[in-house]
Amino acid sequence: MDKTDPEPHITCGAEISIKHLLLECRQFNKERAKHNIPSSI
Ligand SMILES: [Zn+2]
Repeated sequence: MDKTDPEPHITCGAEISIKHLLLECRQFNKERAKHNIPSSI
């Protein structure tokens, strides 16, 4: 197994990236809504 391969986000199975974590990951959807952070910049 190559350690340089991106690991899927264990919470949702998507590939981890800054964009994913900030904008896409459903793990943080509720947090974003709570703080009224828009889903797009
Ligand atoms: Zn995720």
